[in-house]
Amino acid sequence: MHPETLAIRGQMDRTDYREHSPAMYLTSSFTFPNAELMADTFAGLNDDIIYSRYNNPSVDEFISKVCQMEGVEDGFATASGMAAVFASMAALLRSGDHVLASRAVFGSTHQILTQIFPKWGISHTYVDPDDIDNWEQAIQPNTKMLVLESPSNPGLALVDLEKAGQLCKKHGLIFNIDNCFATPVIQTPNDYGADLIVHSATKWMDGQGRVLGGIVVGKTEYIEPIRFFCRHTGPAMSPFNAWVLSKSLETLAVRMERHCSNALRLAQFLEQHPEVAKTIYPFLPSHPQHELALKQMKMGGGIVTIEVKGGLEQGRAFLNAVKMCSLSSNLGDTRSIVTHPASTTHSKLSEAERVAVGINPGTVRISVGLEYIDDIIADIDQALLSSSAH
Ligand SMILES: *Cc1c(COP(=O)(O)O)cnc(C)c1O
Repeated sequence: MHPETLAIRGQMDRTDYREHSPAMYLTSSFTFPNAELMADTFAGLNDDIIYSRYNNPSVDEFISKVCQMEGVEDGFATASGMAAVFASMAALLRSGDHVLASRAVFGSTHQILTQIFPKWGISHTYVDPDDIDNWEQAIQPNTKMLVLESPSNPGLALVDLEKAGQLCKKHGLIFNIDNCFATPVIQTPNDYGADLIVHSATKWMDGQGRVLGGIVVGKTEYIEPIRFFCRHTGPAMSPFNAWVLSKSLETLAVRMERHCSNALRLAQFLEQHPEVAKTIYPFLPSHPQHELALKQMKMGGGIVTIEVKGGLEQGRAFLNAVKMCSLSSNLGDTRSIVTHPASTTHSKLSEAERVAVGINPGTVRISVGLEYIDDIIADIDQALLSSSAH
């Protein structure tokens, strides 16, 4: 079956009530009919559920659906995307290991690599996402994992996933990709040999700005140690959030189609706009990796990144001038959201680090929502015109 169907019909068994939509299992623990069965369960002789930090039926349903959509074996869901990112690295790396990472990784992933892992003797080297032909030079004898995002946030740079998979295979690296910006509706990195696929379910997966969640799925050989790590360190996803997210997956494909068609329309409009110096969108022919986008993505995604002509000042003025769109750090909501990375999400980076990941003073990230496209365009247009310096 196709991912669209699996998101709906890839559900687990129902209870004796034969409920149609999934039940929610808001319970911290589970009971046993007798001491013997309880002992057997603790000894690992059966997979009865013990405790919701380990697993929970609502969470299992969410994991199972994402695994089916990504075409992989196994997974573990976490309280947030960052818990999944962290666990996917921390559970598999040890002191002395080295990580090869795309420079354009999510802000908190950058903090883990630069501020937390060095304390434990785990080093990293950053490479440019669009320069994969030269990544091999940065591989060291102790390089264990490749960490990347495609498309990146907010520069929308792509990594050639086929080449990344080949590189990992050749050098025995664990291929770890944050697939949050694409979702399995747009790209399934398992096709290119990804070992671990991480998501912030907070974004497009929920898609309605309600809950935090994360998930890491992939090959059982890597998920096993991640599950052990998470069960004992405790970043479990709440059953309530899992229930919300399972329902969200049922509409992910139709939502992404509309997010992406709205985003393409907006990008085409902005590319012609006199107040916009640059419009970045993978499915615009002007994107430097447009061919690669067509090859590995089914649609262009819901994010459009622009550079306003007046730099920092106009970037801020633009945010103050939008009327309908929201000012929020989130993305992947039904509501269109504008952010100014240089003064918010990426303010902890130095100017040089920002430029290296494609963030200029006038860069504005637009998470294109599900409002009627003409209304989105009208709001962005009036904000650009009224924030103009000339
Ligand atoms: C938001 C985001 C994360 C972190 O997810 P949280 O759910 O906020 O913890 C990780 N990676 C990417 C690409 C993101 O956009």
